[in-house]
This record gives sequence, structure tokens and C-alpha cells, in this order.
Amino acid sequence: MIIGNGFAGTTCAEQLRKADPACSIVLFADEPYCLYNRIALPPLLRKQVTEQKVIMRDVAWHEKLAIDLRLSTRVDAINVQAKTVVANGREEPWDALLIATGGRPNPATSPGVEGAQNVYNFQYMSETLAISHALETAKVGVAVGGSFIAYELAEAFVSRGIETHWLIRGPRFLRRMLDEAAGELLHDAARADGVHLHFGEEVREMVRSNGAVSKVVTTSGKTIDADLVGIGLGLTINMELCEGTGIETRTGIVTDEHLETAVPGIFAAGDAAEFYDPIAEQHYRMGTWNSAGAHGKLAAHNMAAFGTDGERKQFDTVPEYSSLVFSGQTITQFGLSPEYRDDIETEISVDKDKCWYRALYFLDDRFVGAVFIGKGNRAGKRRYLEAIKTKARFPKESRRDLLTWTAE
Ligand SMILES: Cc1cc2nc3c(=O)[nH]c(=O)nc-3n(C[C@H](O)[C@H](O)[C@H](O)COP(=O)(O)OP(=O)(O)OC[C@H]3O[C@@H](n4cnc5c(N)ncnc54)[C@H](O)[C@@H]3O)c2cc1C
Repeated sequence: MIIGNGFAGTTCAEQLRKADPACSIVLFADEPYCLYNRIALPPLLRKQVTEQKVIMRDVAWHEKLAIDLRLSTRVDAINVQAKTVVANGREEPWDALLIATGGRPNPATSPGVEGAQNVYNFQYMSETLAISHALETAKVGVAVGGSFIAYELAEAFVSRGIETHWLIRGPRFLRRMLDEAAGELLHDAARADGVHLHFGEEVREMVRSNGAVSKVVTTSGKTIDADLVGIGLGLTINMELCEGTGIETRTGIVTDEHLETAVPGIFAAGDAAEFYDPIAEQHYRMGTWNSAGAHGKLAAHNMAAFGTDGERKQFDTVPEYSSLVFSGQTITQFGLSPEYRDDIETEISVDKDKCWYRALYFLDDRFVGAVFIGKGNRAGKRRYLEAIKTKARFPKESRRDLLTWTAE
């Protein structure tokens, strides 16, 4: 049984069917859609792809694989003793259970926002379609937040030709991951695309007229006219189902290296999991598409092996993330970054004119991760990933050599 039909949950269902042609698979989805590509929502908002292209699976695909998909069906409780879940008031039994429930976007809480029709989060297909519709007539948009989601909103607004303001509470975009030099490169790219950046600013108040927000007042007192407001203020992990079950939760649902929780037979995957990564030698949460897929695959293997003599596998992937950002720049991150550890040591190379940046991260001489920014700045990635996987060590004096690795 699988709760959540995002990339982690649906990948798990597909792999379970491969592992065991005879088992019964139930997949609960509280959205009305089959799996769609969440990372294609920004291109959908920019009108670069159609809705059909974003949908990855249909009902027929689930039927063919004998996956019992329950759309628009929220799981309300897990009963560990009875080995059941409760959905629509009915108890449904499981032998092995995956919780792949992801997170829900944090709403804006500023005065004036409650019930406003033109303030949007950006996580689901339904929100994307609503924002896209609003962009047909909007002239000014405000994106709020220092995360990837706020950036995606700002980029979509500006690419749809409206005046775009981006409010960032801290001194830069992704302030926990990027240093000042990297932040500057991306801010310059945003400005070159026409985005108005406002640092050290939050929303103090949203001024309403006729049920919609018409102005955003910032903490420093600036007033910005707004036809729509996009909110990217992080996720709340959907882990309430774990309360009272014995499943441990921290920043997410805590698992071991097999993605199994503290309750045998219950696994967690994707955005919702705070998993133990034996390569990084620590627990963390990684909200990326690749991780969700890798988790789904691993969870399927270990769920199929659960209760049998079959060998269990452990997590052996270096998580990575890559995204296009303003003016065709690419940002690539893999492994750990200062976002996950504050005792990380950094080696940096930056060329502002070429918009080229590399930061390599080390823990006790062990190379553990990197962030690259710039067009085509991914050369040598496989070598870097291999060095992380093999836990290669680099004393301080040899670290700068790594910055120029290019050979694949
Ligand atoms: C706009 C946007 C852009 C992104 N861009 C990138 C990118 O460029 N690169 C990248 O690597 N990552 C990106 N991400 C992040 C990436 O999409 C996620 O990390 C990934 O989709 C997580 O997959 P998941 O299956 O763990 O969770 P989700 O996709 O969140 O799926 C969880 C599902 O479970 C459902 N659910 C929750 N609770 C219940 C319940 N009780 N019962 C039934 N169903 C339930 C939810 O409704 C949801 O459909 C982006 C995310 C967004 C929103």
C-alpha cells in the first residue's frame, strides 16, 4: 500500500509490480490527477509546455499494471496494530506500507491575505492553472520568498511579460545554500531579465479591493501595486498521519538507510522522508525530483523483500538537483551543501563576467558536495559524483585542483 501518488509513490508502485507480478498494490492520491511532472509546472506556467505534456501517467497505465489507484482519496489514519489505513471511513489492510505524502506549501499569513482570490501558492497542478489564468490579464505580479519556488514564480511572471517584483526576506536568494558571490550572479541574471528585487523585505500587509489584493505593503513601508501575488514560503511536511503510531518524525519522517521507519514494514520516501544516507553518513531531507524517484525505487525493493529472506538494499545515490534560472543560467547542486551542515569547508572559484561559479564542499577532508552555476557548467559531474560515492579524501592543499575537473 502506498500513500501519495507523486513521483516517489508512483515510481514505487511501478517498481513493485516489476518485482512481484502477483502482489496487490493500492495507491492513494488525494489530488484528482494521476502522476504529473511537478518540475514541469514552471514551464507550464511560462507556457512553454502544455498541460498534456505535464501529465506523466493516465488511469489506463495503472489498470494495465493492476495498480489500484484511488484518486481524490485522502488517507486519514494509519493503524499500526491492525496493519490498516483509514480512507473514506473504511479500513484497508496492508502488509507493507509506504508513506510518500510530500509536503504542502506554507500559506501567506499577512493581514489582508485571508480569502483573497489572487494570492497563490505554487505546488499543485490546480494552483498552476489558476496562476496561469490570472497571468492572462495581470499587469504586475509580486513573488514572495527566498526559495526556488519564489524564484520560479518570479521567472514565470517576468517571462509572461508582466512587471515583476520579488520580495526576499534575507540578503539573497537561497541564502542558506549560496554564498554572496553566487547570490550576486543570480541576482544580476534576474535583473537582466527585468525582475525588481527587494531584499530584507517581507509582506507587512496586503491591501484589498473587491475581495482581491491590489497592493502589497512591505515591512520597510514600500507599497507595490499587485494584480497577483505568488507565495514561496517553504513546505510543511505531510506527516500528521504518523502521530501516535510509533513512527519517528523530525524535519520529516525518519527512516534508516533502507527507507524503513521505526515501525517495521512501514517505509517513507521522497520529500516526506528524513532518510539516513550512508554516503553522507547522516540523516537529512532532500526535496528533489531525482531523490523522489530513487527513493520510490529503493522503497519498492525493500517493501517486496519485507517479511521474506530477500536481500534489502540501502540508499546509494548522491542526491542532485539541476534547474535553469534566469537568462538561461543553470544551477546544479549535488550531495551536501552548507544548507545541511554548518561545519562544511568550502573551496570556491568565481568568474563574474562569465557568470561562472563553482563551490566544492568538504567535511574533514572528505569531498561531500558541490554547487555549480553558469551555462553548461556541469563538466566533470560524473567524476565529482564518483568522488562523493567513494568518500574520497582531499587534504586542504589539493582541493583547488578539483575546481577545474572536466573529464567525464
Ligand atoms: C513548482 C515546483 C518546481 C520544482 N522544480 C524542481 C526542479 O527543477 N528540480 C527538482 O529536483 N525538484 C523540483 N521540485 C521538487 C520536486 O518536484 C519534489 O521534490 C518531488 O516532486 C517530490 O515528490 P514526492 O513524490 O516525494 O512528493 P509530492 O510530489 O509532493 O507527492 C505527494 C503526493 O501525496 C499526496 N498526499 C499527501 N497526503 C496524502 C494523504 N494523506 N492521502 C493521500 N494522498 C496524500 C499529495 O497530494 C501529493 O500528490 C519542484 C517542485 C515544485 C512544486
